[in-house]
This record gives sequence, C-alpha cells and structure tokens, in this order.
Amino acid sequence: MTRTAEPTANLQQNELGNIIEAYSRVTERLEQSHLRLTDEVERLHRQLDEKNRELARKERLAALGEMAAGVAHEVRNPLGAIQLYASMLDRDLERLPEAQRLVQKIAGAVTSLDAVVSDILAFAGNDRLELHAISLDRVLDEVLALAAPQRDVLGATIHVDADASAVQVHADDRELTRALVNVVFNALDAAGPGGTVHIHVTEGEDGFVTIAVADDGPGVAPELAQRIFDPFFTTKDQGTGLGLSIVHRIAESHGGQVTVGPGHGGGAVFTLSLRGAGDTEPVDHRESI
Ligand code: ADP
Repeated sequence: MTRTAEPTANLQQNELGNIIEAYSRVTERLEQSHLRLTDEVERLHRQLDEKNRELARKERLAALGEMAAGVAHEVRNPLGAIQLYASMLDRDLERLPEAQRLVQKIAGAVTSLDAVVSDILAFAGNDRLELHAISLDRVLDEVLALAAPQRDVLGATIHVDADASAVQVHADDRELTRALVNVVFNALDAAGPGGTVHIHVTEGEDGFVTIAVADDGPGVAPELAQRIFDPFFTTKDQGTGLGLSIVHRIAESHGGQVTVGPGHGGGAVFTLSLRGAGDTEPVDHRESI
C-alpha cells in the first residue's frame, strides 16, 4: 500500500503544480491583455474627445463665419462710399490744408477698416480654392517681399534656412501666400526690434511638406496654444485676432494643419504642413474644391 501511495501523491502534486503554473500564466496574460485593452479604450476616448472638439469648433466657426461675412459685406458698401466722398473732398480742399488733413485722416481710417473687412471675409473663406502644384520658392519670395517693409522698420532679419526651389506643394497660390504672410508678420511682431525669424522647409517621407517659422520672441504660453487659433483672440492693442484663424482655416481647407510649439532657444515655432505636389504631379494641373 505505502509503496504505491507515495508515487501517486507525487504525481498528484506535480499535476497540481502544473495546473497552478498554467493558471497563473493565463491570469498574467489576461492581466496584460486587460491593460492593453484599457490603454486602447483610453486612446480611443482621447481620439473621440479630440474629434468632438474639432467638430464643435468647425460648427462654431461655420456659424460665426457666415455671420461675419454677412456683416462684412454690409459694411463694405458704405465704406466704399465714405472713401469715394473723402477723395472728392480731398481734391476740393486743396486750399484749406487744415481741413484737407482731417479728410485724409478719415480716408486713412477707412483704409484700416477695409483691411479688417478683408480679414473677416478671408476668415469666412467662401472663395473656391484653386489647387495646383506650386513652387514654394516663388511663394516665399512673395512673402518676403510683402514682409520687407515691416522687417526694415524693426531692423529685424529673416533667414530662409532651406533651399526651397525644388519643393512644390499642392496648394492655392493666393491662400498659401496669405497664410504665410500672417505667420511671418506675427513672427516679426513677436521678435521685435533687431529680432530674428527663421523659415525652415522640410519634405517629409509621408509626402507632406512642412514650413516652420521660428522667432526669438517671448513664445506662446502653453495655456494659450489652442486659443490663439480662435477668431478674435488677440493680446495686441491693435490686433483683430483674425490672422491665425485664417491660417488655421487655410491649412485645413488644404488637408493640412498648423501647430505651434516652443523654439529651441525660446520664442515660438509655427509649423504649417501641406501636401507636397510630388515629382510626378504636372505643374499646370488644376483642380477646384
Ligand atoms: P493678431 O495678430 O491680430 O493678434 P492673430 O490671430 O494673428 O491676431 O494672433 C493671435 C494672438 O496669437 C496674438 O495676439 C498673439 O498673442 C499670439 N501670437 C501669434 N503669433 C505669435 C508669435 N509668433 N509669438 C507669440 N505670440 C504669438
């Protein structure tokens, strides 16, 4: 009896050990897959929250854009009339320099108002896009020419780090210029007198081209990083808060994006990503959306 009972007990103990080991392996695997699933659920929640925020922003902006465009159109007609009458008075008042100076001030104020109206219409952005392969070099030349007066007033410097001559993007010429002008003007503003702005172009392997505009200004506080793209958000006395919302709309309408982050030595870096035209894209290819 005792001779056979011992091996049986050992056998049972081994089996029990195997079962416990298998059970703990399964438990461990279950725990790991539970953790993976929890992470995945959290990631999907975050993605959903982000999409919901984007959708809410789009809806808000569409309603605001429609209203703003309506107001801007209504304001533009009387502004045109004021400008016309001011220029007529300006001619008639040649012998009354004091009165003529006042009329010229009125004309100057109307020009500023007209620029705001143009910004509002650009923000509403009802123009149809004309997308084609365009050379970034040419766009940057135009942007630099437009920014030159402000650069010179500030005694600032603008460096274009990369040779962008070979880089083409799939974009609307006018809209891309407008977006880059807004970002570069802001960068000059932030950099201030004697400041420096760097424009860096890179072609990613994903077919996207990124244009990074870095300045040596005070940078953007992290809590403001999302708000600065909202229409009418400004920290400037004379600002309209429309510049970056126009950039955001243009980036999105091109299937790209604009982001802001800190620069290496302080300052802000605004990065605009756009679809590259690719080597095979015919240069004169046109399409509208
Ligand atoms: P505006 O220039 O009329 O204020 P924007 O929409 O172009 O309107 O900019 C919104 C705000 O974003 C600015 O008032 C400023 O606070 C911030 N901002 C934009 N560009 C920069 C920059 N390069 N550095 C720091 N802050 C910036």
